Amino acid sequence: MAHIYDTTIYAEYQGFYCEKIEKDEKGRNIFRFWSNRKTSDEVCPCCGSKVSGNGIRKVRLIDVPLVPGEPSVYEVYQHRYRCRDCGKTYTEENPFKVKGFQLTKRCVEWIFQLLKYRMTTSDIAKMMGIHWNTVRKLEKMRMEFAIKKWDQEAQKSTYRPYYLAVDEFAIRKGHRYATCVMDLARGDILWVGKGRTIKDFRQFFDAYAKTDYLSCVKAVAMDMNASYNALVKEYLPDAEIVYDRYHVQAQFGRDVLGKVRLDAARAHKETAKEISADGDSKQQVQQEKKLYSKIKKARWVLLQNKENLRQEKQQSLNEILDTHSDLAVCYAMKEELCALFQITDINEAAQRWAKWFDAAIHSSIPALAKFGRQKFKRLDGLVAHAKFPINTGRLEGFNNKIKVAKRNAYGFRNLDFFFSYIRFLSLPKGVIHQNL
Ligand SMILES: [Zn+2]
Repeated sequence: MAHIYDTTIYAEYQGFYCEKIEKDEKGRNIFRFWSNRKTSDEVCPCCGSKVSGNGIRKVRLIDVPLVPGEPSVYEVYQHRYRCRDCGKTYTEENPFKVKGFQLTKRCVEWIFQLLKYRMTTSDIAKMMGIHWNTVRKLEKMRMEFAIKKWDQEAQKSTYRPYYLAVDEFAIRKGHRYATCVMDLARGDILWVGKGRTIKDFRQFFDAYAKTDYLSCVKAVAMDMNASYNALVKEYLPDAEIVYDRYHVQAQFGRDVLGKVRLDAARAHKETAKEISADGDSKQQVQQEKKLYSKIKKARWVLLQNKENLRQEKQQSLNEILDTHSDLAVCYAMKEELCALFQITDINEAAQRWAKWFDAAIHSSIPALAKFGRQKFKRLDGLVAHAKFPINTGRLEGFNNKIKVAKRNAYGFRNLDFFFSYIRFLSLPKGVIHQNL
């Protein structure tokens, strides 16, 4: 079989020619391209006068490998000229080079194609025999191009988002956070930024300050514990804040039901201790211990929707509620809380939410009363759910893509890259796969 190095070639390409492939000391295949142009045909680009030769400029570019992992190098010898009249010096154009990279156009096209096939950065770097950072830089360029194009088209169009969701996510196991804003109708991630404070979130509004893209926003869904509401009021005074039902329910489950359940469990443990200290019947001690572990394990049963429970679980739940009045009250409040999010009439919602808070605040259960007092100031954003039944669910669903992005973006070495990647992932497929 003939080997590539035994091959004699003659290639001409846009004013350059190459006569053979050679190997350099590092084992790379070198293609030497010389210029075909004649100095006598050249004219100065400034004044149109005759020019003289002014040396040669050698540029090395990496091309697609002939053998995987062994890069091919184009050594391009460009003519330099000097104008005989105005003295301007210039170098003839290099038709192979991609601006900003020591790579040929063909090589970059290959890399974009491999990225389309979801090859990883390190695999591409290895296969093409180029540096990981170079591939990463191209990846970023491709993403930013697509994002910019998408943004420009979106702003030019008549489409404007009505409903937004904003939420935070952990970047590194809860130590660092980022904030993400989604257009709920289209699922576009409009913005991702570091941190979760008011100052961090202001950057989202700054990013859209010069456009009217947010001019039609009617409502914004968010977690009631976050500090996003103040800025929404400031920048989008006509938009309503809607607190996310899942965050509210989760917090109630944790801070109220969870707390009261553990208190009830602990009470049984204490009773068991007292009985055994008094030397009373072992049977009673066993009974209390059993109740302790039963209640301790009841977390899931208490949080679940009653209709979804199997019969024996339902029975067990009823037994617990029948004998623990605090838990029963909180459980009923949880059921009413879920029902409040089904209301679609704004007046009815206002009345029933007020009633709910009244009952919570005036209950004799400390955890419930505290929850009521703390969340009462969020009343408007809870009632608003009746008018705009939106939530952050779609954004939470996007979290799985963020998890994959974390892995692909090598986590957190470069947050800029990571954030661009998140936005890129939310773009429609046609936009992601378009050519640069
Ligand atoms: Zn000139």
